[in-house]
Amino acid sequence: MRVTVLGSAREVGRSAFLVATDKVKVLLDYGILLGHRNEPPLFPMHVKPKDIDGVVLTHAHLDHSGCIPSLFLSREIPVHATQPTMELAKVLLLDMIKISGFYLPFEYMEVMGMIDSARTHYYREEFDVGDLRITLHNAGHIVGSAFIVVEHDGRRMLYTGDINARGSRILESADLDVGSIDLLITESTYAMEDHQPREEAERLLVEFANEVVERGGVLFVPAFSVERAQEIACVLRAYNFKYKVAIDGMAIKANEIMLRHPRFLRDAEFFSDVMKWLRWIRGWGERKRMIREPCVVISPAGMLVGGNALFYMENLADDKRNGIAMVSYQGEGTPGRKLLEQGVAVIDGKPRRVSAEVRRFDFSGHSGRRELFSMIRGIRGSPRVWTVHGDDDTCTRFAEEIMGMGLQAYAPLAGESVDV
Ligand SMILES: [Zn+2]
Ligand SMILES: [Zn+2]
Repeated sequence: MRVTVLGSAREVGRSAFLVATDKVKVLLDYGILLGHRNEPPLFPMHVKPKDIDGVVLTHAHLDHSGCIPSLFLSREIPVHATQPTMELAKVLLLDMIKISGFYLPFEYMEVMGMIDSARTHYYREEFDVGDLRITLHNAGHIVGSAFIVVEHDGRRMLYTGDINARGSRILESADLDVGSIDLLITESTYAMEDHQPREEAERLLVEFANEVVERGGVLFVPAFSVERAQEIACVLRAYNFKYKVAIDGMAIKANEIMLRHPRFLRDAEFFSDVMKWLRWIRGWGERKRMIREPCVVISPAGMLVGGNALFYMENLADDKRNGIAMVSYQGEGTPGRKLLEQGVAVIDGKPRRVSAEVRRFDFSGHSGRRELFSMIRGIRGSPRVWTVHGDDDTCTRFAEEIMGMGLQAYAPLAGESVDV
């Protein structure tokens, strides 16, 4: 089989790969690179939909799924993924159409076409697309996330998508027992950084939540609606946090999807107990009432772009008793990054110094440096390695270090191919 990189080459975003044999062509992910503010997103390299026999999607995040509907303008193509991935992708894609002020190469109809073409699989269930044998394995990144193993003619490749070998309160860690591999395409997001140990991040967050609420403040936790928001709630509950915790925004939809698929959760009973324990904010009245008293509010968006983040910033930023807990990755140029680096928020179009106490916590849904290297050491065979889904410098240095382990490694550029 021949594998070609169509995106996520030395950058985080627009993940897309093409696997071709004499008989079939299959895409692994087809995502977008979200722009800053109202800039349009960037797309992966173009493919002709009529050439494509199937798409395999690792997980719902738009940097992996966001361009798939564009393939549905002229025809239908089977999209293989887990059931929660398809349900979450629908929520995220429709939301993107609703809020985007920019041109997208598809609309509602194409998203629905994609959803109707779903072929869902559970982890470790093999399926065939032409002469390719494909398996999804739990990737531990968000609910339903998978990494992909593709076999052809006795040769095997593994594409990690986004992977987390650390596990979380909600998800089991990645299932990396995969046998021998000839090509490994690995994400590199945190290849040069080790994460704060999970227990430490949890303990510090709970301490901060207690401090803020006990001094009469409200703690605002901006968090992605898929998984991170629920994860933070589970952490507070696991530490027997005594005060009110509310959840707001699109998290509600993601949550219903998670509750419908207990076998994708680490401990479905604990999860559903936490979801009952939370207060659900369902309208403006409730939103305003909630922050009159000390409490914790978890709401999208993680980088303070959109969601109800603006409402909370406007109402909470000026009081130094309040707190803001940054628990998500903050992309360059986002309001979240500006708040962390300069202590400034843009409110009513004006930059304002924030008096509320801002702290950062490391709850990443990605493997850190230690886990990535241990994954590579643990894989049997001596795979050729491609490093993708990291910034330029990170992908290149990661590949150099892997070469130091005696493997062939390279940070490919978009358009490059390899025969496996
Ligand atoms: Zn992701
Ligand atoms: Zn990603």
